[in-house]
Amino acid sequence: MTLAEGKNIVNKRTFLKACSAVLTSRVLSPVLTWSSDHKLTNWAGNLEYGTEKLYSAKSPKDVQGFVRNRKKLKVLGTRHCFNKIADTSAEFLSLKPMDQVLQLDATAKTVTIESGLSYGQLCPYLDREGWALHNLASLPHISVAGACSTATHGSGEKNGNLATEVSALEMVIANGDLVKLSRSQDGEAFRGAVVGLGALGVITRLTLDIQPRFMMKQYVYQDMPINELKGNFDAIESAAYSVSLFTDWQSQRINEVWLKIRMPEQPIFDAPAEFFGAKRSTRNLHPIIELSPENCTEQMGVPGPWYERLPHFRMGFMPSAGKELQSEYFVPRGNAIDAILAVARLRDQVGPHLLISEIRTIAADDLWMSPCYKQPSVTIHFTWKPDWPSVQRLLPVIERELSPFQVRPHWGKLFTFSSADIHSKYERLPEFVEACTKYDPHGKFRNEFLNRNIFGNDNVTS
Ligand SMILES: Cc1cc2nc3c(=O)[nH]c(=O)nc-3n(C[C@H](O)[C@H](O)[C@H](O)COP(=O)(O)OP(=O)(O)OC[C@H]3O[C@@H](n4cnc5c(N)ncnc54)[C@H](O)[C@@H]3O)c2cc1C
Repeated sequence: MTLAEGKNIVNKRTFLKACSAVLTSRVLSPVLTWSSDHKLTNWAGNLEYGTEKLYSAKSPKDVQGFVRNRKKLKVLGTRHCFNKIADTSAEFLSLKPMDQVLQLDATAKTVTIESGLSYGQLCPYLDREGWALHNLASLPHISVAGACSTATHGSGEKNGNLATEVSALEMVIANGDLVKLSRSQDGEAFRGAVVGLGALGVITRLTLDIQPRFMMKQYVYQDMPINELKGNFDAIESAAYSVSLFTDWQSQRINEVWLKIRMPEQPIFDAPAEFFGAKRSTRNLHPIIELSPENCTEQMGVPGPWYERLPHFRMGFMPSAGKELQSEYFVPRGNAIDAILAVARLRDQVGPHLLISEIRTIAADDLWMSPCYKQPSVTIHFTWKPDWPSVQRLLPVIERELSPFQVRPHWGKLFTFSSADIHSKYERLPEFVEACTKYDPHGKFRNEFLNRNIFGNDNVTS
């Protein structure tokens, strides 16, 4: 283990320990166990945050008091974003101790939770009670509020991103008032707030749609010729509830095809030995073939509950590669093949810096700041080696190649589009800015990321 790796792990562990220690310490005191010789970083360790002042709240009242008394703050979720969307040089508020399930309503088919909860905490509870969420990201470790605020998604052409299952939210706005918004009563105001990028207020509660629990099984196929995508993309993507295509863009192939099948499947998927030229794997695999599949959810068609098959990575284990950077680009489904082939042509430039790419599908939604707003989408994701100078040089090349395809970047991952680019990609952005100004007139929740990308002003500091 290198010194940097060692430090990174200490940071991750210290953060978790620090947040749970708050439960027994004075409410809204700084997280005292945070040691000054360990910088507060994001999960990947590529970002040292601008302050180590980390406070913690146990109730909406705590949050209201904290927000009223601060000029600037940011909420920190589980720190899994790769860019500076969560960063601040002022003060952080963690809602990690607010991790209770408040109500499970079997008639309305909803669950109401405190917003410090992670999917890893929520899903086993729901499953025990006989319920499920419609989809999950590649990992369960992330907070529900942070994931929904950034339009985090899984895969499946009929599955919207995770924010689409939010049916109501409560947030503390800049003056300390509690605002409640719901899908059924607040229409556009609600749809503008769900993917809120942390800009509107501190979300304290979320109500999510649930459905009866279901079982799934997962198969992995290896080495699909990339040309198979040209004529068969729709057939491949509709073959399972959730489909992920992993490629290193080398050798004109999709290295691994992950098919997550919802049971009982319709029509029956009988796991043929060959799937569009790819061969069924005879062992569990990691998306990066060289890595141990121990971290990964069970494959080989073994049935299991939805929350142990929808993510690629298991709770309690390091997700993905650990030491990495990530970028991800959304294109409208109709542009998928052209966009994929455009990236494939960059294989010589991408190859040396890449750990793995993943291609996924997501249904369209009506959430203003969702990259899938009004467009069924395909995402092209890059897990990079942790070499930011090289990745930073490469991203504009990829973004230029993808520009003809109405591309939108993932809010929580690394991109280099300008503010003008971002503005041209989101037709509801002017109304989103109005909503931000209404709830936060003096920019209490703004930071450098929001100032640059949303408010188009590079000169305002965080
Ligand atoms: C290994 C790995 C795998 C990933 N896989 C996927 C994937 O499969 N699909 C995908 O789409 N993304 C994926 N991501 C990205 C990740 O899901 C998002 O970045 C998500 O935002 C992480 O949530 P978080 O709580 O860690 O966010 P943070 O980085 O802590 O915060 C993100 C934003 O949400 C805001 N926020 C958090 N909580 C609140 C709150 N209570 N109120 C108001 N604002 C709040 C923060 O202020 C910030 O602006 C992955 C990331 C990693 C590291």
